[in-house]
Amino acid sequence: MSFWDIPGMKAGVVTGDLAWSLLQHAKSNGYAIPAFNCTSSSTINSVLEAGAKLNRPVMVQFSEGGAAFMAGKSLPNEKGKLQASILGAVAGAHLVRAVAPAYGIPVLVHSDHCAKKLLPWFDGMLEADEAFFKAHGEPLFSSHMLDLSEEPDEENIAICKKYLTRMAPMKCILEMEIGITGGVEDGVDNSGTASEKLYSTPEDVWAVYAGLSPISPMFTIAAAFGNVHGVYKAGNVVLKPELLQDCQNYAKSKTGTDRPLNFVFHGGSGSEKHHIATALAAGVVKMNVDTDTQWAYWEGLLKFYKAKEGYLQVQIGNPEGADKPNKSYYDPRKWIRECEVTMVARVQESCQDLSNVNP
Ligand SMILES: [Zn+2]
Repeated sequence: MSFWDIPGMKAGVVTGDLAWSLLQHAKSNGYAIPAFNCTSSSTINSVLEAGAKLNRPVMVQFSEGGAAFMAGKSLPNEKGKLQASILGAVAGAHLVRAVAPAYGIPVLVHSDHCAKKLLPWFDGMLEADEAFFKAHGEPLFSSHMLDLSEEPDEENIAICKKYLTRMAPMKCILEMEIGITGGVEDGVDNSGTASEKLYSTPEDVWAVYAGLSPISPMFTIAAAFGNVHGVYKAGNVVLKPELLQDCQNYAKSKTGTDRPLNFVFHGGSGSEKHHIATALAAGVVKMNVDTDTQWAYWEGLLKFYKAKEGYLQVQIGNPEGADKPNKSYYDPRKWIRECEVTMVARVQESCQDLSNVNP
């Protein structure tokens, strides 16, 4: 059964039961939906264009820093308020909502890592969800991530319970993190984390399920299995996606349900394909991609500049003549489009990796 056969499935942003059905369809059909960090209308369009080419669902996500960039770097974004991060994420979500139907595919809109010190950002986005829900009967965003993995597990789960209670009436999906993703992303540096924190145990993950499932079934878990943000040379940390299956087995022994957990794969950039396959089999429904698409976007510009260097030095004058204008080369639409073309290709590659392609 195609995801299009899910009752009510449509082009455009999907939330609530529809979004959750899509993630469950992914789990039972052995694929995952890739989530791409976006910081501009150009990167959003690249993700949507790739999804449209494949006729497959995709996810657009905003980090706190990416959201502030979306609103504009010059705007004040004070600690404890994060007004630009709230504004940028909300504006980004509205932009995706406006254009996604034209691309003809279902799209989820999500916000990425939110640590304890960034909770004002989370609160601001939830206020926007609640206002949108009042007007339209659904939240603005499909889902949000809370990352309290730096806090003790008990506090992490308690804060997640509090927020899921607020999100459940809107059927907004919560993604949470238990254990720590290593590396550096969006200014959060976990490169010095003790290695045991980089692997979640089945008991750790079960405590999350036991705490959250009485409130709402609509939550996903970013469990740590040696993941690292960014692309690095092979180091001491070893990716062990088979740990996720151990978590599923443990949860099944408690609930009697097969694969009751829904996992998210962070730090997927540069992952070996066999690790991704193991993760999909263990119930990963979403994988984050940031570093690889950042590189792809840049590479488009790099190649264009190298190929057209002689046309990009002055406004008038190029290898074809001293009076030849270069406007058609330095027009931002020209070189930003080159970035988009290489990003679209990389987004499609991620979809392929996650089996998010039509047979
Ligand atoms: Zn992450």
